[in-house]
Amino acid sequence: MKTDFFNADMEFFIDHRVDWSKLIGLSQGPGANATDEVDTYKMVMRTAGEVCADIETDSIDHWHEAVSLKDGEVQLPAHVASGYEKLKGAGLTCLTTGGAYGGSGLPMMLSCMFLEMLSRANSSLMTIVGLQTGVATDIEKFGSEEICQEYLPRFVSGELQGAMDLTEPQAGSDLGGIVTRADKRDGKYYVTGEKIFITNGGAEIHLVLARDGDLYDESRGTTNGLNLLLCPRTLADGTPNGVTIPRVEHKLGIHGSPTCVVEFDNAEAYLLGEVGQGFRAMLVLMNHARLGVSAQAIGIAEAAYRAARSYAAERVQFGMPILQQPLVKSMLGSMAINIQAARALLYRTCGMIDTIEAIDAHIESGRADDDPKRAELEAERDRLQSLIRFFTPLCKYYATEVANDVTRAGIQVHGGIGYMAETSAGHYHNDSIITTIYEGTSEIQASFALKEMAKGALTATLEDTKKTLSELDQPAGELAQEVSDGIDVINSSISALLGDFDYALLNAKRISQMVIDVVVSAELLQQAAISEEKGELARAFIRRHMLALRMNAERISSGDATRLQRYNAILGLE
Ligand SMILES: Cc1cc2nc3c(=O)[nH]c(=O)nc-3n(C[C@H](O)[C@H](O)[C@H](O)COP(=O)(O)OP(=O)(O)OC[C@H]3O[C@@H](n4cnc5c(N)ncnc54)[C@H](O)[C@@H]3O)c2cc1C
Repeated sequence: MKTDFFNADMEFFIDHRVDWSKLIGLSQGPGANATDEVDTYKMVMRTAGEVCADIETDSIDHWHEAVSLKDGEVQLPAHVASGYEKLKGAGLTCLTTGGAYGGSGLPMMLSCMFLEMLSRANSSLMTIVGLQTGVATDIEKFGSEEICQEYLPRFVSGELQGAMDLTEPQAGSDLGGIVTRADKRDGKYYVTGEKIFITNGGAEIHLVLARDGDLYDESRGTTNGLNLLLCPRTLADGTPNGVTIPRVEHKLGIHGSPTCVVEFDNAEAYLLGEVGQGFRAMLVLMNHARLGVSAQAIGIAEAAYRAARSYAAERVQFGMPILQQPLVKSMLGSMAINIQAARALLYRTCGMIDTIEAIDAHIESGRADDDPKRAELEAERDRLQSLIRFFTPLCKYYATEVANDVTRAGIQVHGGIGYMAETSAGHYHNDSIITTIYEGTSEIQASFALKEMAKGALTATLEDTKKTLSELDQPAGELAQEVSDGIDVINSSISALLGDFDYALLNAKRISQMVIDVVVSAELLQQAAISEEKGELARAFIRRHMLALRMNAERISSGDATRLQRYNAILGLE
């Protein structure tokens, strides 16, 4: 069965935007055959596309079916449970786990492509599989060999699922507020506390962030002193651990994704990584999850776009399909452009992560010891690492906001029927909203990005982008110049933000968007240099976004922190 779930954009990225011979050579050594490996990647993605198409067929009419709780156990709706079995049967539940534990160790880019496809098919099921992959990655990075051997093969086989337990009633965006406690007694850790909003909270394996008992008082209110612990719901002797699920939530969307309150009562747990360093370890999982949520958002947006595009081709008003109306064409055009732009940013970011992983594998294998390029590779890794800290929040912010806009436009294209429960247009919108909230809200992503800008990521990114533009061939000339001028505009408006952190925070989304505008423009121009088909996309994106960039720059340059005082007056805070 041939499907377009593994779509042309994804294949383009695999074929043209990654130097696989370098990456595979670094990670697997000189004997590696990059051509065969890439063929295998594409074969896995095609299979994943077929399984996802099948899951979509089984799920699309069951969106409203919600998770329930029976005798303290989470019950999944049938379409989610059967979809999981299909993925398990196809070996698609944990794509990035390494070969040492039975996994296929696929690169991040492929994992995100799979999550995008799965979200297009069933965004609730995606949350379960996305977490499974993320939790396994954290165990692989921070668990002892014994723990890895105990759990990872069962994650890969699909027997075990995972949850990530951070949020508490008083600790949402600010995880420094965590009060769940981990005490060490007789060489073992015991966790006590309550977590809320935990996706797939019924899973067997919980990765919990809890405050170390010995550091409790001195670290309260900060993200220091937190431990990352692996807490199973069943102990080694088969008896239940002290982990209970008193409630599942009812939500606006992703009804098939369990969102649970989880209570820990002296639950036995294993420390992952170092005492008090849990927040840093959890950041690895959170950053991967942020890219996973970006992929989820793009997958939902893609589904919404396709539904709207085919409805517009069929719906006749004023004697012609509404697709022929300029205003409808414009809505659909914006949807298509913005999805491809978000995809370009996400997969470009994944490519950076995969390069870092390949360099690390090369160094860890010992092959780098007598490689004359070792220092050069280490410098490349360090540079990419600081860019990733910047690009990850930008991706999460952009892809999820795009998905909200695209799915909302999908309802508009459908007109009145789009507001009815019987069409999927509204379902996609309801599902997309959460992507701007979990794994850190859009405001938190923009604030993180701003902090990274202040540490030098802005200058590095703008310089890199300028260099890329200057290396493009002549046909890109005029457009490349427009983007290059856009970079100059960013540089000149930045001075208005220096010296007043509150004013900078007030503009965090604006400046993030401006950076995204130039980075995506340059990426699309690079794509257009490879494929003529991408030329119109690049042109349309640049024309719109360079205008928007100038408007944002004007807004930044023309104001100052007194704008906050005006808000105080409007909000009655004075
Ligand atoms: C369906 C669902 C699934 C979830 N799954 C999980 C999970 O698996 N594991 C888990 O641990 N958590 C999970 N969460 C929790 C989720 O990560 C949090 O809800 C989210 O991080 C926001 O925290 P909060 O709800 O406390 O909002 P708050 O932190 O109270 O934020 C409220 C508003 O204030 C803004 N705000 C707060 N601080 C700032 C700031 N410094 N600057 C600017 N704006 C700010 C926010 O952007 C938001 O608009 C889930 C939540 C939902 C709804």
